[in-house]
Amino acid sequence: MAASHAQFLANLNGIILDMDGVLWEGETPLPGMADFLSFLRVEKIRLMLATNNASLTPESYVRKIARMGAEVRRDEILTSATATAAYLKTVVRPGEKVFIIGEEGLVRAVEEADLTVAGPDELHAAYVVCGMDRGLSWQKLAAATINLRGGARFIGTNPDLTFPTERGIAHGNGAILAALTAASGVKPALIGKPYPSLYQMALRQMGIPKSRVAALGDRLETDILGARKAGLKSILVLTGVSSRKEASRYKYKPALVVKDLPSLQRMWLLSRQRRDG
Ligand SMILES: [Mg+2]
Repeated sequence: MAASHAQFLANLNGIILDMDGVLWEGETPLPGMADFLSFLRVEKIRLMLATNNASLTPESYVRKIARMGAEVRRDEILTSATATAAYLKTVVRPGEKVFIIGEEGLVRAVEEADLTVAGPDELHAAYVVCGMDRGLSWQKLAAATINLRGGARFIGTNPDLTFPTERGIAHGNGAILAALTAASGVKPALIGKPYPSLYQMALRQMGIPKSRVAALGDRLETDILGARKAGLKSILVLTGVSSRKEASRYKYKPALVVKDLPSLQRMWLLSRQRRDG
């Protein structure tokens, strides 16, 4: 391990982790995932999990992680759905409705922000919000398009063009946003990474200086670029979307590139042992 990498890791007191492609692939935990989370606990390194995936609620992530043998608290999880709802709360006026393409995570977050969700066929919504929706139908796309063409403002939870699954790389929310833009001529405002609001919310919640926190992710154009925009150093793990080759060509370099979580854990432990003599 290079001395600069050891120093970088030894200095960290907190980490903001992406989940898909970092902790798991679909329903399958990635190697060393539970061990890595318990390493963070033992070493008293603060953690926040911040995901662009808007489909699940924070509670369902707590349960998913428990099924994989690890423990996190609800307040350690931020999703682009909860961040989108927080944003909507500041802009939606009384009586305005929000048309949602999305799953429970997004619908619940918008409802919990005390906003009115438009019905599946309802037109004249003031906002169209679009996040990952595995039940997406022609009808929903049609209603969203008509709402947008009628003047609704357009918000995307996250711009990811692709989404890793056990079967391979599938389309992400950004691809559906592109389809709606093609049909309506309206471009979305975007909430998730690489826009810095998720990382900024995570940092506020951790309450430790930015210089002692790194972002860990598997995707250059969201996790690594988002960290850069939030003024955070980053670590790329090669178990998800981006490759080492892509990282070497990318305009913003992560501070560290690691093969997987066990190799990051080994390096991090070693750097702390060296620091403490
Ligand atoms: Mg990811």
